[in-house]
Amino acid sequence: MPSGRFAPSPTGDLHLGNLRTALAAWLFARSGGSTFVLRMEDLDRNQSSADHETSQQRDLAALGIDWDGAVVRQSERFAIYEEAISDLTARGLTYPCYCTRREIQEASSAPHGDGMPDGAYPGTCRDLTPAMRREREAAGRRPAIRLRAQVSELTVDDVLLGPVTATVDDVVLRRNDGVPAYNLAVVVDDAAQGIEQVVRGDDLATSAPRQRHLADLLGLLPVSYAHVPLVLGPTGTRLAKRDGAVTLAEQKARGVGPPELCGMLARSLGQGDGRACSADDLVEGFDATAIPREPWTPARLVG
Ligand code: GLU
Repeated sequence: MPSGRFAPSPTGDLHLGNLRTALAAWLFARSGGSTFVLRMEDLDRNQSSADHETSQQRDLAALGIDWDGAVVRQSERFAIYEEAISDLTARGLTYPCYCTRREIQEASSAPHGDGMPDGAYPGTCRDLTPAMRREREAAGRRPAIRLRAQVSELTVDDVLLGPVTATVDDVVLRRNDGVPAYNLAVVVDDAAQGIEQVVRGDDLATSAPRQRHLADLLGLLPVSYAHVPLVLGPTGTRLAKRDGAVTLAEQKARGVGPPELCGMLARSLGQGDGRACSADDLVEGFDATAIPREPWTPARLVG
């Protein structure tokens, strides 16, 4: 079984959806005797904090989820991401983009626009002349750096979802505030950490083709994917704080301890019988084919 990882952003307490994904990722790795690493995706330093990092690690440990080696922090790896950007730039595979978020939205929603799907970059700055670039720089615009993608769509195989086809647009590699972008950091780090299987929430499934393309261009080994369906709140939208007792601490305050929570999360993943447990108890009987392909709506969050 390939080595795995969990890569949360330390911007708050982990909620049931994050904990459930972490448990699934850990079980995929450990059931095959593989390594499992924890990476803090703290590129947004303003929103990330050491306190959240500590509470996230404490909650994972309470469920019996452990990891190998030191925790890696993306905030300490900017130089490595810059190397990848330089490599791509030297090969003519990047360009500066001066668009604001608003301009991108307007371009992709225009009636006779480029027909790009939601959120995809329509390529506005791809072929700016040097003079046009100078004009934008002179107006004080700071560019983001984008990938000059070589394909417009790609299909990746997903262990849980089957083939996933999505648009590959010119993703941002470095934001216009100088911070490396998520898609670049995730691809560089998964390769650097020897990750072979990425297990994460299925809100990121359509990012997988972009990330595979970026890995290909950087000459990195491809990872395999298992995207786990999301956890929904009572109103049918993605689980959020307002939905009630959504963190381990909040569940604990209502008398549901970590072992009970572990049993409940495992059951929702088609593992175990719902009784209190620790992650370790689930390793032997882990059956990836039993993971439901539909979102999970937990009962008893409020009250
Ligand atoms: N840091 C991302 C998140 O917390 C996950 C990225 C990934 O697993 O690729 O949603």
